[in-house]
Amino acid sequence: MAGIDIEGLATVYPNGVRAVDGLDLTVADGEFFALLGPSGCGKTTLLRTIAGLESATEGTVRIDSADVTRTEPGKRGVAMVFQDYALFPHMTVSENITYPLKVRRVAAATRASVAEKTGDELSLQGLLERRPAQLSGGQQQRVALARAIASEGKVLLLDEPLSNLDARLRLEARTFLKKLQKDLGITTVFVTHDQAEALALADRIAVMQSGKLRQLGSPREVFARPTNTFVANFIGSTPMNLLPGTVASHGVSVSGGSLPATTGSVPAGAEVTVGIRPEYLTLSTGDVSGPAIRGSVVVAENLGTQSLVTVDCSGTLIGVTVPEEDEPSPGTPVVLTASEQRVLLYDKESGELLA
Ligand code: ATP
Repeated sequence: MAGIDIEGLATVYPNGVRAVDGLDLTVADGEFFALLGPSGCGKTTLLRTIAGLESATEGTVRIDSADVTRTEPGKRGVAMVFQDYALFPHMTVSENITYPLKVRRVAAATRASVAEKTGDELSLQGLLERRPAQLSGGQQQRVALARAIASEGKVLLLDEPLSNLDARLRLEARTFLKKLQKDLGITTVFVTHDQAEALALADRIAVMQSGKLRQLGSPREVFARPTNTFVANFIGSTPMNLLPGTVASHGVSVSGGSLPATTGSVPAGAEVTVGIRPEYLTLSTGDVSGPAIRGSVVVAENLGTQSLVTVDCSGTLIGVTVPEEDEPSPGTPVVLTASEQRVLLYDKESGELLA
């Protein structure tokens, strides 16, 4: 088992693209760590640079305290699972799983017992003699994972591990992967562009944009307290409301009313962007005391057990989630409130969290 330390890392492609652009991060021993961000932000390049499949232009990569920046991929102690699984079609499941051991000239009898044991761990019993084409997508993914685990790397690197599975299988595989990672306790870094997947699986998430780290934190932290409006926009199944506001003496004024807010050192009168998640707003149809925003319902969308209600507040649209049975009809006058610690203030220009 091993941690990963990345310092001042940059990976520049020959065409001049700085896909990873000055990055520092540490992945703890045994951690399940997600690299999350929109397409093209550099997450795959970062994963491949950790694996040694791309070479670092600047900075260092350490695995288990050893500097591996210039070490060839096969000698870094990493096992990587590719998005398309990269299984050998002419080999059986058993041969695929133990291929890395065959390369290392491990004896056939040992290989057979490793295939048996890893096959058990990955729920591949009864499939060891099949070829990849005779397996479902979920089973193929588990063979690729089994091969990575059987190679006994110190670190497991997964590139979009669930993206080739259909929606139902993906949920199943997600639960399986989380349990497997916890059971094995192997340091694991996985790439995803799916924020829901990162929130569900990871111990910590690194959110990237344009090759840079925008926030590093637990799923709870990046969801409840994004440190900039980029992360605020990217995380959450319903987007965070980002509203123009003006700091007042006890909170912040926005179109249609005001909200309580901890203003810290931000002076009264300052123009800010106010961030509030739809999940953290309360919608009432009666009167309320204290700071509130007034408006009228435009539309409500069913999200399953919740509804996302869009409220027109003097020309600004604000989203709020309510239990499905409390969904108000369009045109209903409503009042929105929030507790002070849920209201975030961002710099209007830079988008960085102020308070
Ligand atoms: P996606 O989710 O779409 O896979 P990503 O976040 O993993 O995206 P990368 O694949 O790491 O992003 O790409 C980062 C940047 O580097 C992009 O601008 C991409 O066009 C560029 N890039 C990727 N591979 C190469 C390459 N081999 N040569 C030149 N530029 C590349």
